[in-house]
Amino acid sequence: MEKIKMTTPLVEMDGDEMTRILWKMIKDELILPFVDLKTEYYDLGLPYRDKTSDQVTIDSANATKRLGVAVKCATITPNVQRMSEYNLHQMWKSPNGTIRAMLDGTVFRTPITIPSIHPAVKFWKKPITIARHAYGDVYRDVEIQTTEPGVAKLVFEGVSGERIEEVIHEFAGPGVIEGMHNTDASIRSFAHACFKYALDLKQNLWFATKDTISKKYDGRFKAIFEEVFQEYKDAFDAAGIEYFYTLIDDAVARVMRSEGGFIWACKNYDGDVMSDMVSTAFGSLAMMTSVLVSPDGKYEYEAAHGTVTRHYYKYLKGEETSTNPMATIFAWSGAFRKRGELDNLPELVNYANQLEQACFDTLNEGLETKDLVNLSEGITPKGLTSLEFLKEIRKRLEIRLGA
Ligand code: NAP
Ligand code: MG
Repeated sequence: MEKIKMTTPLVEMDGDEMTRILWKMIKDELILPFVDLKTEYYDLGLPYRDKTSDQVTIDSANATKRLGVAVKCATITPNVQRMSEYNLHQMWKSPNGTIRAMLDGTVFRTPITIPSIHPAVKFWKKPITIARHAYGDVYRDVEIQTTEPGVAKLVFEGVSGERIEEVIHEFAGPGVIEGMHNTDASIRSFAHACFKYALDLKQNLWFATKDTISKKYDGRFKAIFEEVFQEYKDAFDAAGIEYFYTLIDDAVARVMRSEGGFIWACKNYDGDVMSDMVSTAFGSLAMMTSVLVSPDGKYEYEAAHGTVTRHYYKYLKGEETSTNPMATIFAWSGAFRKRGELDNLPELVNYANQLEQACFDTLNEGLETKDLVNLSEGITPKGLTSLEFLKEIRKRLEIRLGA
């Protein structure tokens, strides 16, 4: 078979530990035999980040702004222990944090679902995607703990000289006070990213806050979403999808009773809490994909899990591991599909779809990595090593592509 052609390169961000090993295996088994791969390669593995004083991370984010579509391997966020393990010059910041800040992006997380893994919520038939606003609120707060009676006030001093002052509480004894903020600009970016992604997926968008209680703060989120939606209304009508706003407690109840198959936009804290609940209820972190979407339509695809350190140490001892490559494969297929759509390359889009279907064929025959074996129902699963699993997917992909 002739290899599938690409025109614009993908931004390829390599990473660390077990996922770096999987990265190469996936390329060797499932990509290079079929695609005339074009990438701009950035090594975000910790040794090279350290060598370049993290410049490589910044370069890779700039490349994503320029080329539009990136695929990223999981990377180590250094802590004290990593400082000595890798003999680092500095405790470099999280690459994901750096890239997210540079792209001003929103992270969308979607579980990969298969018939043999039943969600803990029996009503859920289709995946639920969580879109988390990744700026502000309690994550950028200031807090005070007081020890005596007194008065707490909220004060704003405008550059115009305007002064707004509100009494928060007159304390009769010790207590706690919290000040938090968000910006219209950040909320607006979040709204654009959500509406664009809903159109991409042709799925309804839900958004919820507590604007009945927090009339100005949450009220502002509601109002900005409503205002931004006016720009997308016609496109939503044409795609046959809806924007649905409700209160957060009502949303939680409806999500539990829903069939799934929609995008749930969450404020920062709600997204933090709900994404862990939704991903666990769908089955496994190893089956969760993640994509960062910027308000001007740049995409960075990755797995939601980390570098799977425990498996890597086994691998270093020469043991075969059974690390699940699904989320990393789907990061690649997501990036190929998006690149194919943008460059009008139907063969590349088809390859992405067939690659995902070959993964499903393999899993549906009960051939899976060991993390899924205990979760599977209604089939007799066989636990494979990562490489055995990839080779089974390759066989099925060859048949699907007529290679
Ligand atoms: P992790 O790599 O996600 O792994 C935690 C555990 O979850 C693993 O030990 C394994 O459980 C299971 N697991 C996760 N992915 C799996 C897969 N693909 N296949 C099979 N099992 C899987 O999280 P971590 O150990 O907390 O973090 C390790 C490193 O990753 C850290 O340095 C952290 O900074 C980094 N990290 C990076 C990202 C990112 O780049 N997006 C995200 C999170 C963490 P068992 O050991 O029980 O098999
Ligand atoms: Mg969390």
